[in-house]
Amino acid sequence: MNFADTEVVMGILKNKGYEITENIDNANVIFLNTCSIRDNAEQRIYGRLGNIKTHKDTRPDTVIGILGCMAERLRKDLIEDKKIVDIVVGPDEYRRLPEFIDEAFAGEKGIGVKLSRTETYDDILPYREDGLNAWLSVMRGCDKFCTFCVVPFTRGRERSRNLDSIVEEVKQLSVRNFREVTLLGQNVNSYNDEGRDFADLLAACAEVDPLLRIRYTTSHPQDLNDKLLETMAKYDNICKYIHLPVQSGSNRVLELMNRTYTIEHYLTIIDKARELMPGVSFSTDIIAGFPTETDEDHQKTLDIMAKVRYDGAYMFKYSPREGTKAWKMGDDVPEEVKTRRLTEIIDLQQKISAEINQAGIGNEEVVLVEGFSKKSKEFLSGRTDTNKIAIIPNVDNIKPGDYVRIKIHRATSATLFGDILEVIGDGKKEVQLTA
Ligand code: SAH
Ligand code: SF4
Repeated sequence: MNFADTEVVMGILKNKGYEITENIDNANVIFLNTCSIRDNAEQRIYGRLGNIKTHKDTRPDTVIGILGCMAERLRKDLIEDKKIVDIVVGPDEYRRLPEFIDEAFAGEKGIGVKLSRTETYDDILPYREDGLNAWLSVMRGCDKFCTFCVVPFTRGRERSRNLDSIVEEVKQLSVRNFREVTLLGQNVNSYNDEGRDFADLLAACAEVDPLLRIRYTTSHPQDLNDKLLETMAKYDNICKYIHLPVQSGSNRVLELMNRTYTIEHYLTIIDKARELMPGVSFSTDIIAGFPTETDEDHQKTLDIMAKVRYDGAYMFKYSPREGTKAWKMGDDVPEEVKTRRLTEIIDLQQKISAEINQAGIGNEEVVLVEGFSKKSKEFLSGRTDTNKIAIIPNVDNIKPGDYVRIKIHRATSATLFGDILEVIGDGKKEVQLTA
């Protein structure tokens, strides 16, 4: 999401004549786009600010800005504590950046941290380098208020972008030969543009170009409905991959987290999706060590992982965030217990991922080729519809952007290795832009 926001910021600044430099020594303005989701994300930014300080010492006229959630969360403190910071701008005030930069060059510090109920940057074309994969924010903010989460406070209330403007942007990506668009929102299932829901948006994006894969993230289990699953099943170019964060396997903890679903409800979604889309893959987010979490609760998390058999998972230790409801619950699970539980969760997930991938040996998959494999130019790397990395031989003039049907002959927990069966379609459909 921050990657997409950075492209919006670059779009705004490019419109004012700014250029991006690859070399920090050439920069007159340096922005760090920040994340507050867990404490370690914030600590990394303090580390980066330390590095930039030497730069500012040698070139005091450089403008340094903090953007994003940390700007929103820490506001004035950042400018007062970190003397090198000139500008602090939260996620809803990026339009004012050119103004803040001008003021900073004139020696004035600037803070823009108002949250908006309407800002969606609908009319700003993000600045994107040519490529195959694009991120596209379809909504901003979040109204869910999970008790551990800082997002509703740093990114504000939920609002959806206009459907037609999103489809127009997808068309432009198709014309530029992008092959994959990931639609982004904290809870895409509550997308609503005057009655048009997320399934409508997904269908409209999928119609643009059959060679353009559509992915999306993140689904909240409370709002994922049958219409969305049926829409996914209907279009070949909507990837059969659902990121469905469960957070915990214990209903008691889910209630304390204000996740608003039970494990039983969660499992009905998984079953329905598998019924409509055999072979659909799932990933999840899990938090270890939420306040009051017992060994029994933790065991329930391991149980749900074993039951669903996720293809992948993002797994975190609970990190208390000031201002959230969970902050007031204390942080009573000792660090070593959190570490142990997280290790058990990671180990189990690795075992499951390896087993699922092993069981897929002999299967056929369609892979979008993205580039050379990291290890050797004799191999190419791509991703399956289900979002797994696949390595294939670099033969037959196959190039990034081609779709290739492969047969899996080897697999690890993270990677599939395949033989090429055929190269399918790299031709383009005519796409009409309306604007
Ligand atoms: N909107 C998405 C998640 C956004 S944050 C959703 O609801 O699924 C991504 C993930 O970070 C969350 O799913 C959660 O697992 C994790 N996370 C958020 N706040 C956290 C905290 N305080 N401590 C640890 N992990 C957290
Ligand atoms: Fe945070 Fe919950 Fe909103 Fe996700 S749904 S961003 S976890 S408050």
